[in-house]
Amino acid sequence: MKDTYKHKGLRKRLIEELIHKGVKDETVLQAMLHVPRHFFFDKDFEDFAYDDKAYPIADGQTISQPYTVAVQSSLLQLKPGMKVLEIGTGSGYQAAVLAEMKARLYSVERKKSLYQKAQFLLNSLGYDVQIWYGDGSQGWPTHAPYDRIIVTAGAPEIPQAYLEQLKPNGILVIPVGDQDNQRMMRVIKHEDGTIEKQDHGPFRFVPLIGNEGW
Ligand code: SAH
Repeated sequence: MKDTYKHKGLRKRLIEELIHKGVKDETVLQAMLHVPRHFFFDKDFEDFAYDDKAYPIADGQTISQPYTVAVQSSLLQLKPGMKVLEIGTGSGYQAAVLAEMKARLYSVERKKSLYQKAQFLLNSLGYDVQIWYGDGSQGWPTHAPYDRIIVTAGAPEIPQAYLEQLKPNGILVIPVGDQDNQRMMRVIKHEDGTIEKQDHGPFRFVPLIGNEGW
């Protein structure tokens, strides 16, 4: 796989589009400028890698729209070195963006083919990401607690396990709703244990499957 001048040019244009759509977080924009999104696409769709759209990956799943990746990454308010749990590795693109932002990343994927492909790709790109093949609807207790948790599949409700696996002052970003439409929720676990929920608008994800999912 090659990252050509053409790809870099398209990427720059995509970043300008995201800025135009209201994305402001410089570290997110810089990370997305660096990650070659076309590496995470199937050959058939590679030409569309720098459109601001979601596309099919294997197994009926999708790679999130760049705008969605930018919004979720911004809402996390990530600082370098923070321990982050991602639910739904999928193509591995969102994971690569977070790794580029210097997260210590743990990611869970329940589809074996996607897990294997993402693991191989992220390693070959030099990203140090720990991936678990399993049901992430109850988090990943082994490595808890986390500074941040990001869920990239739509959940019917906020699983209690995520709140338990967050550190004090931790932030959870999760789309919550029915199977077609969700609201992007930012959930803050304050120092004293109280939970604050903020609504950041409508989004569409594939469903979170599993014990605490659909
Ligand atoms: N972050 C991904 C988006 C993938 S789409 C990317 O950047 O490409 C959502 C993913 O969540 C799918 O791959 C789906 O298989 C996965 N998923 C759904 N329910 C899950 C669960 N309970 N545990 C782990 N992964 C899950």
